[in-house]
Amino acid sequence: MKDICNRCGYCCSYMADVFGIVEQTGPFEYRIQYLITGVEQIVTIDPDKKDLFTNTTIHDKRPLACPFLRFDGDNLAVCTVHQTRTDLCRMYFCGR
Ligand code: SF4
Ligand code: SF4
Repeated sequence: MKDICNRCGYCCSYMADVFGIVEQTGPFEYRIQYLITGVEQIVTIDPDKKDLFTNTTIHDKRPLACPFLRFDGDNLAVCTVHQTRTDLCRMYFCGR
């Protein structure tokens, strides 16, 4: 998500077809894999977002969402792995 982002969460709500979690590699660490290329990467839940990450109710509402997307108390999107997010996410340019 870019700095100009209004945190609607749309871009992260359909990422389940792009990459997924292969395995948990630590208490808040995950190995993910791009489904098309097979490239893997380790991502870690940001220290200040662990509590938010453990709330998984988003999966019921947005089954295709990135497994690391959450919404805060103001219903604004939060990337819980922001510090270690994928290159794809870093390069994303929002067209909305
Ligand atoms: S779609 Fe755009 S505005 Fe919405 S969360 Fe993604 S980057 Fe931000
Ligand atoms: S890793 Fe973060 S920025 Fe990338 S799709 Fe998931 S929630 Fe969005």
